[in-house]
Amino acid sequence: MSLLAIEGLFRHFGGVAAVEDVSFDLRAGEILGLIGPNGSGKTTVLNMLSGFLAPHAGRVRMGTQDITGLPPDQLAQRGVLRMFQMTRVFSRMTAFDNLLTAGMARGLTEAESGRRAQSLIEELTLGPVQYLDAGQLSGGQRKLLEFGMCFIEPPLVAMLDEPFAAVHPVMREVMANFIRSRHARGATFLLVSHDMPIIVDLCERAVCMNAGRVIAAGDIHAVLKNHQVIEAYLGETHAGEEPPSLEVRP
Ligand code: ADP
Ligand code: MG
Repeated sequence: MSLLAIEGLFRHFGGVAAVEDVSFDLRAGEILGLIGPNGSGKTTVLNMLSGFLAPHAGRVRMGTQDITGLPPDQLAQRGVLRMFQMTRVFSRMTAFDNLLTAGMARGLTEAESGRRAQSLIEELTLGPVQYLDAGQLSGGQRKLLEFGMCFIEPPLVAMLDEPFAAVHPVMREVMANFIRSRHARGATFLLVSHDMPIIVDLCERAVCMNAGRVIAAGDIHAVLKNHQVIEAYLGETHAGEEPPSLEVRP
């Protein structure tokens, strides 16, 4: 069943068509991968789906409701949340207080927010740094903290833009486990990532974009074998570099 139906999204920046006629379905309960070379329009799609950028044409439907162009706070009320490529935490507040505040901002009582914050701190392995100011955490720890802030009141749909980029492999695994556990409890994800092994591991389906358009969609293994997809990634390679591996871990 489709949770979000995306139909014919367009977005231009001056003369640049960043997103052209993009359509796909995000199904309830799935982790859908959104892949494609740099500059292919993935972040622009996420920005439009999460209300940070208005589409120039096209529709986004959630069930029978038209949610096109709603601002981020109204989408958040409907359970559609996005996490940023650059994390947004209060750097002069402790990690624990960031979680507590995020919960209270979503309408939880202080007691309930505190309980959830404590259990997220443990799950995200942030115990040793929970009373440090968030500004003192490593980039990976801040991303984990942002996962916690996003999930203190579980969203219906979480949109993640390159959450694994430049994150230590141990923390990458904590993130992947967190996504798996929330997926098992019914959360739906739209996951933008360059990390093919993790995409293959987490996603059954993917949508691949190139130059603003969808060039392949469907079963992840079929998408990665698609010739246009392989060519799009090869085209991204610069002289002298190895092409990115689309090989899948067994
Ligand atoms: P991706 O996330 O796949 O790397 P983006 O959505 O960030 O791609 O960008 C798609 C295209 O739109 C690129 O050509 C990029 O330069 C352009 N673009 C994105 N955001 C802006 C902006 N705010 N102003 C002008 N051009 C932009
Ligand atoms: Mg991007």
